[in-house]
Amino acid sequence: MEEFYGIDLGTTNSCIAIIDEDDTVTVVTNKEGLLTTPSVVAYEEDGTPFVGNAAKANMANDPDRTVAFIKREMSNANYSRKIGNIDINPIDVSAEILKKLVNDANMKRRDDYGKDPINKVVITVPAYFGNEERSRTKEAGKRAGLDVITLINEPTAAALSFGIKNKQNRNILVYDLGGGTFDVSIMQIKNGIIDTLATNGNHQLGGVDWDETIVNCVLKKENINVTCKDLKTNDFATYSSLMIAAEEAKKILTDREKTSLRYNYKGIHNTEITLAEFEELTQELMGMTGNIIDEAMKMAGNPKIDDILIVGGSSRMRMVKTFIEKKFGITPRLFEPDLAVAKGAALYAAQEEKGYTETGLQMGDDKGSTSYGMASWVGDKHMISNLILMSDNLCVEKSFDKFSTRSDNQTGLHVSLYENRVNEDVCELYLGKLLQEGDIDWGYPVPKGTPAKLLVNRGKDGIIKVYIEIQGQKKEFVINTKGIAFN
Ligand code: AMP
Repeated sequence: MEEFYGIDLGTTNSCIAIIDEDDTVTVVTNKEGLLTTPSVVAYEEDGTPFVGNAAKANMANDPDRTVAFIKREMSNANYSRKIGNIDINPIDVSAEILKKLVNDANMKRRDDYGKDPINKVVITVPAYFGNEERSRTKEAGKRAGLDVITLINEPTAAALSFGIKNKQNRNILVYDLGGGTFDVSIMQIKNGIIDTLATNGNHQLGGVDWDETIVNCVLKKENINVTCKDLKTNDFATYSSLMIAAEEAKKILTDREKTSLRYNYKGIHNTEITLAEFEELTQELMGMTGNIIDEAMKMAGNPKIDDILIVGGSSRMRMVKTFIEKKFGITPRLFEPDLAVAKGAALYAAQEEKGYTETGLQMGDDKGSTSYGMASWVGDKHMISNLILMSDNLCVEKSFDKFSTRSDNQTGLHVSLYENRVNEDVCELYLGKLLQEGDIDWGYPVPKGTPAKLLVNRGKDGIIKVYIEIQGQKKEFVINTKGIAFN
């Protein structure tokens, strides 16, 4: 009988879940017997990587050989770091994390049940991830030797996992505050189908920002005239040890009213921080999540929300529950914050591979959360003509008849594809991020004003293809992720 796997490749922690032949979803423990594995990779002197708890522990002792929060760099084409002779890049580091999860799970399967190694998986990504980050995540899976069936948005996976137990018709808001990313999705469960009405997020906002606030607070209290950001750039060892202490303090503050951080900065300090101080200093960060929710609600047409799920490790902070209660008048449910996403991915893998589900819930429409457009002339202004809007369904196919050649004897087109967060057909060029540019040649001259039909399609994994059809000839414009070459 077949089994299906889902992987939550998290910013801070990762997790692998299985759906077995009885349609039971469980999380597979790692070699250390833990349900989640820190998404941290460290490198030995000879370049051998090690991943997880050992690597996390290595962060304080040997930060120069340790890599954390690599998921935040997935969109950074200019990321550059060298450890010994190894060029560190987000794809390979992510591949190491995936390998650790899968190798540990394989070992357990082989030793306990004599089963074959895992091959096919669904990997989760923040709903906010654009084309580049999605392509890179898929590539990381490939480099880890996996067949990535597809990618799924993290909040969608969480809702799928939640919906299995709660199948009634309703609208759900999924608030996912992880270690380094924030995502919100508005979902609808109707007659056994889960549709995403809107999704939004910020992949530079997460628990680590709350930790940095604690670090800045204690430094200020001790009159140390340096910020967390300065330390990160100039004294990474102190930064790392302070961040570890701050994270611990933050976790203690979920249970207690005050705690203190012991750290070494030109001498030993022991600085107290109270929950009230922590909550006040991080109100702005909470407010940022509120604005992102408001945008998502607007995109979804402000539906009545029946249930709010809070997932992601940082949702354990007391202020999250208070904030949601105040904003919506609904007590949110903290739903398996570390496991729900991986479990949802496994459920989705089963659905995708079998073409049906025995669990009574089917995934409907998902959303992409980012707009994509082409630079084009609108009158005499160079603008972005959006082809896919952030409010469009994830699986989308569209064609446009409004484009034509600009001069006589044109034999090709220069295409510049931009990612942006404007939910309009046209927007200013500066609002977009250039994803890819290139030329499409059809090989013979055509007169000015020849219609160039544009076709665009985005698959379930969120990866986009653009085609141009001119005088009956169809040419594909391949969107390669810039910066990192895929083999
Ligand atoms: P995730 O990316 O979902 O694995 O979430 C990891 C984040 O959750 C990190 O920033 C952790 O510091 C944070 N976290 C985990 N446990 C707690 C807790 N008890 N209180 C506050 N934050 C927590």
